[in-house]
Amino acid sequence: MSPDTPAPCPVCGQPASVRHRPFCGAACRDRDLLQWLGEGYRIPGPPALADDEKTGD
Ligand SMILES: [Zn+2]
Repeated sequence: MSPDTPAPCPVCGQPASVRHRPFCGAACRDRDLLQWLGEGYRIPGPPALADDEKTGD
């Protein structure tokens, strides 16, 4: 175990970058964030979108 070796990126497993720790880069950081947001939106799921779509009738 060397202190010079960063933990691997949790998204893709590549060596993490110092700037984007613990991810390897901005892409994986964003991906992880989007996954979080996606799950967050899915949990409180009242189907309010349907209201906006019903035009006509
Ligand atoms: Zn990555």
